Order: sequence, then C-alpha cells, then structure tokens
Amino acid sequence: MNSQQLIDAEKKYLVQTYARPPFVLTRGEGVYVFDADGKKYLDCAAGIAVNALGYSDPELVAAIQDAASNLLHTSNLFYTEPQVALAQALVEKSFANKVFFANTGTEAMEAALKFARKYHRKRGDANRAGFIAFRGSFHGRTMGSLALTDSEKYQAPFRPLMPGVTFADFNDLDSARAAITNETAAVVVEPVQGEGGVNPAADEFLRGLRALCNERGALLVFDEIQCGLGRTGKLWGHEWSGVTPDLMTLAKPLAGGLPIGATLVTDAVASSLHVGEHGTTFGGGPFVTSVALQVFNRIREPKFLAHVAETGNYLMERLSEINSPHVKEVRGRGLMIGVELDIDAGKVTEAGYAHGLLLIKAREKVVRFVPQLVFQKQHVDELVDKFGKILTEL
Ligand SMILES: *Cc1c(COP(=O)(O)O)cnc(C)c1O
Repeated sequence: MNSQQLIDAEKKYLVQTYARPPFVLTRGEGVYVFDADGKKYLDCAAGIAVNALGYSDPELVAAIQDAASNLLHTSNLFYTEPQVALAQALVEKSFANKVFFANTGTEAMEAALKFARKYHRKRGDANRAGFIAFRGSFHGRTMGSLALTDSEKYQAPFRPLMPGVTFADFNDLDSARAAITNETAAVVVEPVQGEGGVNPAADEFLRGLRALCNERGALLVFDEIQCGLGRTGKLWGHEWSGVTPDLMTLAKPLAGGLPIGATLVTDAVASSLHVGEHGTTFGGGPFVTSVALQVFNRIREPKFLAHVAETGNYLMERLSEINSPHVKEVRGRGLMIGVELDIDAGKVTEAGYAHGLLLIKAREKVVRFVPQLVFQKQHVDELVDKFGKILTEL
C-alpha cells in the first residue's frame, strides 16, 4: 500500500475522530521520525508528551524484549513482581503510600474520582460527592473525567455528563474558595495545564488550594499525567510549589510509549477502599510495569532531571528571543512550553510539516512544545530556527 492508498483506507475503515496530516510515519530514531517517503521530521510533540526517552532507545528496546519473553499478562487476580516493584519505586519517590494501576490517563483520573468519593463515604459523608475543576482543564474523555474537562467542544455531544462538577478560575484562589462547599469531595488541578494552553499554576495558587482543602475537608488531586515524571525539570510538577496532594494521576511517559496509568494516593485514601470495589483486567500487568520501572528509574535520576531543566531553560530562552509580531507570550516550565500566537496555531503546525517539524497545538492559538526529555541543545536550535522561519513566512 502506498501512502495515498493507506490514507484512503483509513478514511474507509476508521471512525473519523482525528484530523491527520497527509503522510504516513514509518519509523523513529532518537528525536526524529521518518515518513513512508523517507522524509525526516524533528519531533517536538513526542506522541503528546509520551516518548520521554525518544525512539528506538536501545535500553528501552531491550527492556521491552526482555519483558515480552516473560509473563505478558496474568490479570490482577494473581501476584506478579513487576507491578509491586514499580509501585514501590513510585511510592519511595513521592508523597504517596499506595498505587492503583490503570491503562490510560483518563482511567487513572476515573479511579481518582471514585477513590475521592469512597474516602468521604467511608467517613460517613456520602454527600461529599462533588468536584471542583478549573477553566482550561483537561482530565480525559470518559464520562467522569470528561465532566471535569473544560471544553464545550468535547462535552456538548455527550451530555448529560456526571453531575456535581463546578468550574473555578485557574490561578484564582478567591474563585476556588467560593466554589468549594461541604459537598466537595475533591479539588482537581493540573500543576501545569497542558491541553488548555500550557498554563503553569502559580506556586501560591497550589499552596492556597492545599490550605483551602485542609480547612474545608476536601481532598486535593493533582493531575500530573502531562506535567509529571520529569517534564518540568523536577520529578513532579508540584515539587516547585512545595505542597503535596492527597491523590495524583500519572500516565503519558510512564512506560516510555506503552499504555499505562497510575493513581497515587495517601494511606488515608487507600484505606477507604475494600477488595472488589475497583478493578481492571489489564491495568499494571507484568509486561508494561516491568518496562515502566526501567523508564522511571532513568527519569528519576538527578542527572536526567537536571538535563531536562537545562534544556528547558535553553528552549525558553531561545523561543523568547524570536522576534515576531505573531508571538504574544512564551510560557511553561522545563520541556513543557507554549507559545501563544495571534494567529491560528493550526497554520503553524501545518507549515511545520513542510519544514520537517512535528508540532502540536494546545487550544486554538498556542503551539505546544513537549519534546522527548532527551532533547539536546542542538535539537532546540534546529527547532527554533525552523519555527522562527515559519513565523516569518506567515
Ligand atoms: C492526556 C491527558 C489526560 C488523558 O490521558 P489519556 O491517556 O489520553 O486517557 C488527562 N489529563 C491530562 C493532564 C492529560 O494531559
């Protein structure tokens, strides 16, 4: 099948929920991907902040091959070692005491919402079933997580959604204070909003939310599916603020490109759950968790995190130097940076393909840079040179 035939077949056989550019990706090497015509692209999207270690990383490939020749799947009815080892590693490096594994980010969020409700129900306060989310949020696409996702376009076709969600303004403590009631189970926030336009939460905002939750008896949930696991130059996106949540969700980069989700919780939350109250067939299986353990052990290394911080600072510096009337703001943390434009960001991502750049946007006017965490300064230079050229042309 040539590329055009494959594109035609995709239109015929797949539910049309994605708009894809007209080329077919066939392989990847480091931070580059190649299409069926052999054209090379610098990948600044990393599969939406997933491919932390880049493509064809030899250690990752070896870990996958090794895991594939061992137990592939057992279900959660049985003990297996990799799941326990990964949970222990996550707990030892975080605020959390226990972990629940799922397969995706949205599932990790769903578990967090259910666990928050169960926590209050166990304490005899079943009325605490509501959630506070924020303008610009993205928490997923299932009926529960979608209800906390601030997007008319995503929500409207599927109403009615889970009731009980109130939206407050991001980075506005007064708005959060006014929204929390004695029926609030949890306040849910991304320490750096991803899909909503790459908006970092102010440190004082997260500290204020922690204090409000303590005062009002609500749980605090950090969605670190995109900003966690080294993305901001620290292991956790919330580390910058110095406060910790009661629950935290992880996914995207955790298994280096394989699907996994995780919900990290305190003992107080974990102890409210009983056997049989939540579960998944695939979540945390031995194959994916043994690969994820290798990925996590590399990301958590201080040297690795320092590299992300340094490369992120350099990217921020270089992007801020671009002299274009189209650039309104450059913002973000580490290797999670958004450039807000005065034009449709889709025009820029489209022009990127011709220049050999894979870019993604966040909302309508923000180009989002979430490259592989192994990005080097020379890649930043290539990206900024091409991006600058595109802005001049538009
Ligand atoms: C991607 C994302 C999700 C959803 O994860 P999926 O794996 O696509 O289900 C939830 N929250 C945030 C912050 C995300 O970036």
